[in-house]
Amino acid sequence: MGGTFDPIHHGHLVAAEEARWQFALDQVLFVPTGQPWQKPVGVSPVEDRYRMTVIATASNPAFAVSRIEIDHPGTTYTVDTLRRLRSELGERTRLYFITGADAVLQILTWKDREEVLALAEFIAATRPGYDLAKLAERLPGARERLHLMEIPMLAISSTEIRARVARGAPIQYLVPDGVVKYLAERGLYRPEPASTGDRKLSRGAGS
Ligand code: ATP
Ligand code: MG
Repeated sequence: MGGTFDPIHHGHLVAAEEARWQFALDQVLFVPTGQPWQKPVGVSPVEDRYRMTVIATASNPAFAVSRIEIDHPGTTYTVDTLRRLRSELGERTRLYFITGADAVLQILTWKDREEVLALAEFIAATRPGYDLAKLAERLPGARERLHLMEIPMLAISSTEIRARVARGAPIQYLVPDGVVKYLAERGLYRPEPASTGDRKLSRGAGS
């Protein structure tokens, strides 16, 4: 399961565990992106995203975290990651790429789409409001390599978590407790302190 994981949240974890169960997977490997080419600005440092992913997955013996993209300098394409995993695991291992249904449509924009589909089957988790029929329609050639997975409605996104932290809203129960703690300790996603507040104060005092 690839992702920016900025931060990892219960939507990711529910999708991973459901895929493990529905497809009888031996292991779910979380692969945090190195330098994401689709989200070039404002992504947290890789080591923070990696550590949060480790913290969040530690309690599940079937979950593991890979540094395969983090340790590879420069932009990593999914096809390169899958090639590496395939050569590590050998031909006999069945490899699935778990994504949200929204992300699976990006296969269309990935280079080497045919090879990507040859290297791994896809499991697309549905998110609230997602049109499953449309997805299958838009990926006609992929049908036998693409599995759709219904997961409980979890309208959680990392974007929403970051916005909540920035405005001081609680994120407990949306992400694992260890991630709540880590974010608080590292001060991630908090708005820049002081300077704007100071300016407002002095402007007020002057008028
Ligand atoms: P952002 O809001 O920054 O885009 P995100 O919540 O979508 O973050 P990503 O790290 O981009 O998280 O997602 C990694 C993978 O997990 C993607 O395939 C995405 O579609 C999937 N995913 C994200 N949120 C959920 C969720 N609530 N339920 C199921 N799958 C999800
Ligand atoms: Mg996303």
